[in-house]
Amino acid sequence: MNLTATNKSFSLIILVSCLLFYACRQQEKSHKVLVVHSYEATYEGYKDFNKYILKGFKQKGYNIDLKTLYLDCEAYMENAEIEHMRHMLKELEDKNWKPDIILVNEDQAHYSLLNTRHEWIRTIPIVFGGVNYPNWELLKQFDNVTGFQDKIDFMRNLDVIREFSESNFVAFSFLDSTFLDRKIREDIKEQVNPSEYVLSEEFLMKEIEDRTPPFRPIEKNYMDIWPIRKKNIEYIFWNLSQYKTNLPYYFFQVKQDYVSIIGSDLCQNMKFTAINEYFGYRKNLIAGYITTLPIQAAEEVEAAIEIFKGKKPSDMPIRTSRKEYVTDWFALRRWNINPDRLSKKYKIINMPFYERYKWETNLLAVLSTLLLLYVISYLYRTRSREKKKKNQALANLKSRNEELAVAITQLSRQKEELIVARELAEKAELKQSFLANMSHEIRTPLNAIVGFANLLNDPETSQDISDEERREMMQIINQNNTLLLKLISDILDLSRIESGYITLEIHEYEITKLVKEIYRTHEVIIHKKLDFELKIEETPVLIQVDKLRFTQVIANFLSNANKFTTKGKITLGYYFNPESREACVYVEDTGIGIEPDQQKMIFSRFYKTNEFAQGTGLGLSICQVIIGRLNGRIEVASEPGKGSRFSAIIPGTIKEER
Ligand code: ADP
Repeated sequence: MNLTATNKSFSLIILVSCLLFYACRQQEKSHKVLVVHSYEATYEGYKDFNKYILKGFKQKGYNIDLKTLYLDCEAYMENAEIEHMRHMLKELEDKNWKPDIILVNEDQAHYSLLNTRHEWIRTIPIVFGGVNYPNWELLKQFDNVTGFQDKIDFMRNLDVIREFSESNFVAFSFLDSTFLDRKIREDIKEQVNPSEYVLSEEFLMKEIEDRTPPFRPIEKNYMDIWPIRKKNIEYIFWNLSQYKTNLPYYFFQVKQDYVSIIGSDLCQNMKFTAINEYFGYRKNLIAGYITTLPIQAAEEVEAAIEIFKGKKPSDMPIRTSRKEYVTDWFALRRWNINPDRLSKKYKIINMPFYERYKWETNLLAVLSTLLLLYVISYLYRTRSREKKKKNQALANLKSRNEELAVAITQLSRQKEELIVARELAEKAELKQSFLANMSHEIRTPLNAIVGFANLLNDPETSQDISDEERREMMQIINQNNTLLLKLISDILDLSRIESGYITLEIHEYEITKLVKEIYRTHEVIIHKKLDFELKIEETPVLIQVDKLRFTQVIANFLSNANKFTTKGKITLGYYFNPESREACVYVEDTGIGIEPDQQKMIFSRFYKTNEFAQGTGLGLSICQVIIGRLNGRIEVASEPGKGSRFSAIIPGTIKEER
């Protein structure tokens, strides 16, 4: 059971696939379609017609290779037109382009084509359209031809004219004596109901010839046929051009030729048409009940597709074309006719988009304007809100800035006050510690002096003191005296220099000489166990110093080096830095050195790294003050256990440069 079901569905799939494949093949295949027109290629209607044809086929899924021929018939010259048609077909044949179907339009092309006796005319299917008066006798000879008769409906067209005209009217048409014109004339006579429209010939000819306006009053509605006679044609046209629009005298197009075109152009009043030629293109045909070009094209495409699908033209009877009521927007405007006064059956063509959708476009315009206004007002409101916010923020910022500025000023004032306060406090503290140090430094030696002096002076104790002890006590008293003296002189020195009480005796000295002099005086002072070296550059550099005070600084360096060095050497040196133009006199030792954290402290008053070390602890403070007043500075480089180097750096100039 299952197997049969599977087989069935498999066969179904194959069948559907084949059908689909066939359908695709059918659609993919390009059909060669030849369209033959009666008039010239420049007629705008044909361009649209060709587009309708292509679009029609495309919509049905047919791919078309389209070629067009234009018979270009100017008048009804039968033989010439047949010859022309035959020639055009031959040209295509020579190009090896054979159509699958021929679509032929209007009476002239249809008649000429069938009369060419070309081989294609019997073998290729032909569909005609827009033919008002098919040649039935001729058509009987062909079983490959089918098509659509555009059968003119004179009565309905006259009804159209009656609807447009506000009074009784004369609808006039030009007719000649050709085969086609005779057919039209017969048709008019057959169709027009005399109880509704008076059928006349040359009704107003008399007035035109006599040129005697005002014309007779028109009491009925006329369908007037004007025969074209060669002898009076210019005369008629000239007169036509004279009739202004106030006369209900309307041109009624029932056939297409140059006489009709010129006649309608010259007529100043409304023009109507019973056929589609030039309707909507010349903008002067106002209305009609006609087979429009889109209808004509659609009908031909439909028939062609039936033939493509395999239907034989012989099985397709010739049908009558569909018609519709149409009016042209431009012509309505020209003759000031409000479309609202016409019945709804009219299709208005050439109506601009705006007019057709007036209500919608107006609504859209109003809505767009409202939207635009809303957007503008929204943007404006947002902008002003933003602006307000911005201004507010700016104002806030400004006031904050001002507050900040006030705060900064206050702060800096407070800072200054603080600095002053701190300086005062520091000074007070300095004074305090200075006094504390002073009392300590003075008290210690004084206690020793007073203590030993009292011992020596007390009659009770002095007897027990041996001579040896007495000598030692005297020595201590002397030592402390010296120390006290040094302390007093140092303090006085420092305060005098610092307060500017003493003026420095600044003179120019050659530095090498000065350093050599200091070296010489210290040779005897430096411990004998130490090497004392002089290391100087011979650059003749001049310095501006107070010799005594400068010597005092270097002497202090040497004295310290001597104090804190037990072995090794002491170097007194000098060099000049030409880049910074500074002279550097230094004392280097191989002594105990100074801890890095103590290197700055040693310049403080009374500071000693070892409380029991010899000295007042004021030496380096004095040195710093002196060098400062000589526009220089002191630098220390030291390593504990290895030694120290104290440099006095002051501005100098090379002698030769001056
Ligand atoms: P003083 O007048 O008592 O010598 P200074 O102000 O000259 O005092 O020196 C202060 C302290 O700096 C000294 O007590 C010592 O601790 C330290 N000092 C100065 N020079 C040297 C040096 N060359 N080597 C090691 N320590 C030094």
